[in-house]
Amino acid sequence: MSQVTAVQPSSLLPMVAARNVQKSFGDNHVLKGIDLDIQRGGVVSLLGASGSGKSTFLRCINSLEKIDGGRIWVDGELVGYRAQNGKLYDLDEAALTKSRLRTGMVFQKFNLFAHMTVLENLIEAPMSVLKLSRRDAIERAQRLLERVGLTSHHAHYPNQLSGGQQQRVAIARALAMEPEVMLFDEPTSALDPELVGEVLDVMRGLADGGMTMIIVTHEIGFAREVCDQVAFLHDGQVVESGNPADVIGNPQHERTRNFLSKVL
Ligand code: ADP
Ligand code: MG
Repeated sequence: MSQVTAVQPSSLLPMVAARNVQKSFGDNHVLKGIDLDIQRGGVVSLLGASGSGKSTFLRCINSLEKIDGGRIWVDGELVGYRAQNGKLYDLDEAALTKSRLRTGMVFQKFNLFAHMTVLENLIEAPMSVLKLSRRDAIERAQRLLERVGLTSHHAHYPNQLSGGQQQRVAIARALAMEPEVMLFDEPTSALDPELVGEVLDVMRGLADGGMTMIIVTHEIGFAREVCDQVAFLHDGQVVESGNPADVIGNPQHERTRNFLSKVL
């Protein structure tokens, strides 16, 4: 943990640092000591078989789940807890909300508000949580809709959009909270194959724009092309990580080889 100390300027810290992260659900020990660093502007893809703990890890970074041991820092700040005199204390509700805003999450199943238009989906949380004026929230939403190529769809309801369009709205909605890190949990897995590309294009644009991203995906081609790091999770641990060409092209760990032989 020596590289994560308060005396260093935060620009030198990894944007996300996970050390020995532990998480159990009852008797099921799911995360068994995850260690991972993601540099500022870094784009990491997290690979691993179903059940290896990928979603749980993302949910811990976003405080949707609480870790049982270890530490996660986002931009130098501890996630989910505050440390005082060497002890950890739970965050109160307000502090937890504020802390959660530092990471934006995109799910496999879009999770848009079905009864709201695209624009309403985008302005709801900026107004209610960030206390933006309606006018500022709309301005922000319009900028983001342009970025994901959906300007002309602002008045549509989610069920009037394709899956790819819905996912692009979900990305814009997460960005509207101006997170420091974006977390993607299999963002294209629920899409028809012909709609995958438009979502990956938006993600590629974000990566090019310097966003720090952690992406759980089975799109190995995308991982190789866009990510600067690939981490392979097996049974709740990162067993192999490095640059995509090495990990995907020449995996060292037997589990990584097995997994890649099935998805490539
Ligand atoms: P992955 O995303 O890699 O497929 P998950 O993180 O979803 O893996 O799941 C890892 C393990 O944690 C699985 O055994 C799963 O059943 C368990 N798990 C995940 N979320 C919960 C939960 N909310 N309650 C109980 N068990 C869970
Ligand atoms: Mg999952």
